[in-house]
Amino acid sequence: MNGKKYLIFTYGCQMNARDSETIAGILNSLGYSATEREEEADLILFNTCSVRENPERKIYGKVTELRMLKEEKPELLIGICGCMPQQEIEQERIREKHPEVDLVFGTHNISRLPQLLEQAQDGRILEVWTEGRTEESLPAQREDDLKAFVNIMYGCNNFCSYCIVPYTRGRERSREPDAILAEIQALADAGYKEITLLGQNVNSYGRGLSQEIDFAQLLGLVGEIGGIERIRFTTSHPKDVSDRLIEALATEPKLCEHLHLPLQAGSDRILSAMNRGYTSAEYLELVARIRERIPHIALTTDLIVGFPTESEEDFAQTLKMVEEVRYDSAFMFAYSPRVGTQAATLDGQVAAEVKKERLNRLIQLQNKISGQVSHEYLGKTCEILVEGASPKDPRALFGRTRTNRACIFPLPSGDPKSWRGRLVPVKITRALTWTLHGVLEEETDAKTVPKGDQRSGHSGNGSL
Ligand code: SF4
Repeated sequence: MNGKKYLIFTYGCQMNARDSETIAGILNSLGYSATEREEEADLILFNTCSVRENPERKIYGKVTELRMLKEEKPELLIGICGCMPQQEIEQERIREKHPEVDLVFGTHNISRLPQLLEQAQDGRILEVWTEGRTEESLPAQREDDLKAFVNIMYGCNNFCSYCIVPYTRGRERSREPDAILAEIQALADAGYKEITLLGQNVNSYGRGLSQEIDFAQLLGLVGEIGGIERIRFTTSHPKDVSDRLIEALATEPKLCEHLHLPLQAGSDRILSAMNRGYTSAEYLELVARIRERIPHIALTTDLIVGFPTESEEDFAQTLKMVEEVRYDSAFMFAYSPRVGTQAATLDGQVAAEVKKERLNRLIQLQNKISGQVSHEYLGKTCEILVEGASPKDPRALFGRTRTNRACIFPLPSGDPKSWRGRLVPVKITRALTWTLHGVLEEETDAKTVPKGDQRSGHSGNGSL
C-alpha cells in the first residue's frame, strides 16, 4: 500500500475519536499515509455516530457527494464504519442506496481492516460483528502529542430507553488494569501530560474482571504514573457515583476538578421513562455531597428536551434543576427517536417545533449561567496547561484550566511551541462566557495549587 493516502471523517463522541486513532494506526502500518484532501485520497472512511438522526443524514449526504469523485477516480475506496453500520437498518440502507460505498465494518471488528481492505479491491464488502472482544495489540496514530484518550472499558449495560449505544457498542466490558497502565506509561514516556479515561459508565469499571478493582482504585494507580500531570475521565453515570470516587476527586492531586454528570431531564416521571435509575432529589443530594467535598468542582451535563410525553411542566423541572445545579456548561439536544430503542416506540412524541422552542429556552438559560460561572474566575489565579499559540492570535498562548475552561494569555517570551506542555499560573482578568483571558503570574509554583479550588483561590502570590 506504499504511497496510498487515506482520509478519515470522524463523528460523535471521544470513543469514536479514539477508534479513528486506531484505524489511522492500522492504515499507517499498512503503508498508507494521511491526507486532508479528498482528491488526493485513495481511501475515504466515515467513522460514524448513531446517537442522533441529523448527523446521520449529513453523513449520507457527504457520502453521496463523493460519487462524482469516484467516477473520476474509480479506484477510490469509500468506507463507512463505527456505530451506524452496527444497526441492520443502516446496513440495509447502505446496501440499497449507496452503491458508491465499497467497505462497511462496525465498532467490534476494526482489527479486521487489513483483510477487509484487500477484499474490497475485488468488490463491495460488508462485515459487522455484533459482539466485541477487547483487542490490546492494535497500533494507534494519536491525534495529539500532549493529551490522549485511553479506553478503560467498552459498551454499556444500562439501556437508557432513548439510547442506541448498548446496541452499537455491545455489553459492558472492562480492560485489564495492567493493559491500561501500560498504555498510560507508554504515553507518559512519550511526553503526554494529560489523559482522559474513557468509558460509557466509568463508575462500573472492574465488573467482570478476575482481579478485584473498582474505578477509584484504578484512578489511584493511574495517579502514580510519573510524567502524567492531569487525569480526566468521562462518562460518569449519576446512579453509580461512589463515595470512594468523590474521595478520589477530593484527594488525588492529578485528578482534575471536573465531573461530567449527565442529568438528561429534571422531571422524575421522565427520568423514570428514560430508565435513568435516579430521581431529581437523589441527583441533587449527590451534587451536594460532591460539592461539600470539592466546593469548586466544575459540573457539566447532558440534557435532552422533548422526550416522548414531556409536558411543559416536565420541561419546567429541567429548567429548575439547571438553575439549582448551575452547571459550567451542558450538551443540550432535542430528543431524536432511534429505531430499535424503547423510547422510539412510545406514544406521545413531542412535535418538532415544541422541542425546538424548549431547546432554545434551555440554551438561553444555560448560556446565562455559564457566563455567570465564568465571572467567578475573575481575579483568581488558575493553573493552565499550555497547548500552544492561540488559534486567533499568534502572540498569545492557549491552554485550559483544571476545570477545563479555555484560557488565553499574552505570550510572555519566545516561541509559543516552547510553552506547550507547561503548567503555569495565570491570573484571570477578563471572563467571557466560554473563554477566560489573563496574564501569566510569576511561576512560583503552579503545581502547589491546593486541590479543588480554582475559582475561590486567593489572587496573586501563586497561591491558587
Ligand atoms: S448510560 Fe444510558 S445514555 Fe449512557 S451509553 Fe449507556 S444507555 Fe446510553
